[in-house]
Amino acid sequence: MPKKKTGQRKKAEKQKLRQKEIRNRESQLPEQPCNVPMDCEKCGKKQKSRAFCYFCQSVQRLPICAQCGKQKCMLKTGDCVVKHPGVFTTGLQMVGAICDHCEAWICHGRKCLQSHACVCPLMDAVCIECERGVWDHGGRMYKCSFCDNFLCEDDQFEHQASCQVLESESYKCQSCNKLGQYSCLRCKTCYCDDHIRRKGFKYEKNKPIPCPKCNYDTSQTKDLSMSAAGASKAQK
Ligand SMILES: [Zn+2]
Ligand SMILES: [Zn+2]
Ligand SMILES: [Zn+2]
Ligand SMILES: [Zn+2]
Ligand SMILES: [Zn+2]
Ligand SMILES: [Zn+2]
Ligand SMILES: [Zn+2]
Ligand SMILES: [Zn+2]
Repeated sequence: MPKKKTGQRKKAEKQKLRQKEIRNRESQLPEQPCNVPMDCEKCGKKQKSRAFCYFCQSVQRLPICAQCGKQKCMLKTGDCVVKHPGVFTTGLQMVGAICDHCEAWICHGRKCLQSHACVCPLMDAVCIECERGVWDHGGRMYKCSFCDNFLCEDDQFEHQASCQVLESESYKCQSCNKLGQYSCLRCKTCYCDDHIRRKGFKYEKNKPIPCPKCNYDTSQTKDLSMSAAGASKAQK
């Protein structure tokens, strides 16, 4: 007979599931069609998928749609703005536009053309460390799993290593200077039990309390300081 689940165990399982969800969400950005790796057809340099090579500016003739990820249009009765009944199209015959945000090709499907510019995941993709956008460096974009900010390929590892840790002085609550139990890794601030909660806001059980400033999920400061201590031990 299977063991009865205790409340504690159920809670732990729920937490695990949630963490998995978060990880899934975060791993999405690198795999987005507008953020896939590409080798320039002319100079061979590795970079993020884009219509023109970042290094030699040559036009890329084997486009991947930044929205739907297709390389070949096989739709016979699709929403293509250029009709091509009975013929498959590839290459430049398949493209309809270049996205201003991610610099990648968009296919000639009406849905992709209309929607991509509004939902492009790289719309405000400016690296929090070096402040370079998609136009200023060739590489792919990443998101910090702690503060959720954009990172360029060069800064992603270094930033995430330091982002995991709060400065010890900032463990104090923003509002009352008492030790804050909750911390927002995005704002790098802490709040005590009284000041993390907003009036008239509905909080869900078993879910992290959102930061009163930026709404990003806060974590328990004691978990952080433990992992920070662990990290510094591991470095020695
Ligand atoms: Zn090139
Ligand atoms: Zn498309
Ligand atoms: Zn088509
Ligand atoms: Zn785009
Ligand atoms: Zn950067
Ligand atoms: Zn960060
Ligand atoms: Zn307080
Ligand atoms: Zn915050």
